[in-house]
Amino acid sequence: MSSAKLNTADQVWVRKMNRTIILGFFRTHKTLSRARLAAETGLNPSTVSHIISELIQENLVRETDLIQSATGRPGRLLEINPEGGAALGIEINVDYIELLLTDFAANALWRYKQALVPDVGQDVIMAQVLQAAKEAWEFIQAHNCHLLGIGVGVPGLVDVESGLLRLAPNLHWVDVAIKDVLAEHFDCPIYVENEANAGALGEYYFGAVRHVKNFIYLSSGIGLGSGIVMGGKLFRGMFGYAGEAGHMTIDINGEPCGCGKRGCWETFVGPRAVEQRVRLLLSLGAKSSILHNIAKGDLKNIVFDDVVQAAQAGDQIAIDALGEVSFYLGIGIANLVNLFNVEVIVLGGALNRASSLLLKDVERVVTANTLAPGREHLRIIPSEHGSDACIMGAIALVLDDVLREPALM
Ligand SMILES: [Zn+2]
Repeated sequence: MSSAKLNTADQVWVRKMNRTIILGFFRTHKTLSRARLAAETGLNPSTVSHIISELIQENLVRETDLIQSATGRPGRLLEINPEGGAALGIEINVDYIELLLTDFAANALWRYKQALVPDVGQDVIMAQVLQAAKEAWEFIQAHNCHLLGIGVGVPGLVDVESGLLRLAPNLHWVDVAIKDVLAEHFDCPIYVENEANAGALGEYYFGAVRHVKNFIYLSSGIGLGSGIVMGGKLFRGMFGYAGEAGHMTIDINGEPCGCGKRGCWETFVGPRAVEQRVRLLLSLGAKSSILHNIAKGDLKNIVFDDVVQAAQAGDQIAIDALGEVSFYLGIGIANLVNLFNVEVIVLGGALNRASSLLLKDVERVVTANTLAPGREHLRIIPSEHGSDACIMGAIALVLDDVLREPALM
């Protein structure tokens, strides 16, 4: 971007944009040369050199291997400097909490995971989150790191400005001031985001869709959420509550959902739906299934991963249960494809673990239920980070503030 004939305020803005554009390239490229950066960004080589010098001084970028340039002059490749600072990601989910501390290149430094029973209540869970975050802080101090910020992914509707969790249907939490609670103890930027939105960012920054600008990330756990990225930017709606695809009504007379409605999409396609379907089929008298051995007399002992393993071993009851999920998953995805004309649908969370069993049927149902031009070039793929997508997204929330591309601003 040229700075000719601009006033000082504009020049500052242009410099910031140029810096953002350059840092954005490090999201999709592990290493880059100054010459390549100039060619890719269209910026003047001297502007690139100047900005890179600044970034090296700030410890955000560092020089690495020596390379021969086109002019024959040797130069150094550049990469993100892991020592640029640390980011703390926190995931509060329905049945666990997880914390991950990374360096500036998103390499893991410290990790904590604790299984939870949601019934213990929000005070106990938030106290555990705080306790674990303090342990992360002790690690940061012991290793002389600089904490850039804290990103939090939560399974509900978040007012991203205030960091207030408005509603988490499966935790039964209403109006929890997540950001304020953390801000009492940590003096750094704090970002709170819906877990599926965070998962989408995690896959966009570090995973399966680094080069894709229009995609929807589906996150299946106890609930089903979606993170919609359009033009390289999270689509949050007016206040940040968009993407509640799991609560699209599929059957107005269907099973009750955690949100209080009936027949939401997540009651058809989540792990709970698979477990319920299997229990029903077995209780109706299906005799020959290896799932009987796992149940040991109590069908409640069968969990989603048992069904996936049984289906992989060729168990017909397990295959039938997952087949039903594939159908409804395909129906919901077809609705989203008709609405958003995305390039990629990413299957995350528990769906990721069953994707090899589901994908063929899902693709068939999506093809049958979408308008042809809207599904051209569509790919449905498993997430790269699986159950880590949300926590990686929480890290991305922090790094995003530094590495932000103009499209994400
Ligand atoms: Zn619902």
